[in-house]
Amino acid sequence: MIVSAITELRRRYESVLERLEAACLACGRPRNDVALVAVSKFCSARAVSEIAAAGQADFGESYVLEALAKREDLAKVPHCAGIRWHMVGHVQTRKAAQTAGVFALVHSLDSVRSAAAFERRLLVSGSRQAVLAQVNTAGELQKSGVRPEELFALVDYITEQCPHLELRGLMCLPPVFDAGEAARPHFARLYALRESLRSRLGLALPELSMGMSGDFAAAVAEGATLVRIGTDIFGVRSENR
Ligand SMILES: *Cc1c(COP(=O)(O)O)cnc(C)c1O
Repeated sequence: MIVSAITELRRRYESVLERLEAACLACGRPRNDVALVAVSKFCSARAVSEIAAAGQADFGESYVLEALAKREDLAKVPHCAGIRWHMVGHVQTRKAAQTAGVFALVHSLDSVRSAAAFERRLLVSGSRQAVLAQVNTAGELQKSGVRPEELFALVDYITEQCPHLELRGLMCLPPVFDAGEAARPHFARLYALRESLRSRLGLALPELSMGMSGDFAAAVAEGATLVRIGTDIFGVRSENR
């Protein structure tokens, strides 16, 4: 990476931190209520290393193989040793074996089938995996995520049948990208679902993963504890590799 690109990357990162702080301030939440997950899909290991050097610890990836390769690339870089890798993309059931036990948090658990695949794998390795249930807050408009009416059944399944899965909360990915306030009802819906799970099942479910580059301020106002930001840190991705 050339020096000006590194400077630009750092500048963008600092700007996101400032805007996140402002978003917390605006709704009266302490800044440390909200963790920033830097979404580095399609970005180089070098770019991840630069942001890690600036103090970022949580990184999110969408593709299992890409995440594993990047981790491997950075394994020997001392200041990257403490990185917590998050899986934010859809995990196909057949990839569960490679995913289980590898990530600090899997944000995208969205079916009983997938939970069962994770549990089978974790039973063999003896490790545990923290997960969020990804909720389809938009019904028909959206493909990934469990429908709200099926969420309780999924949560029951995880808590009763999957002792190696630790359900930490909920995640959503509204279909209205970069729409700022337009995504807000989806965030409010996720919050309300979490509250109803809490009161029905007595679970803590401390995490709400919601908000991306275009809408994280609205998500913070609606109670996000994890915001997943890619473009505003790393620049526009070319996804058609
Ligand atoms: C790519 C991605 C993000 C980051 O989106 P940006 O708009 O680039 O900030 C967040 N969450 C998920 C699930 C993603 O796939």
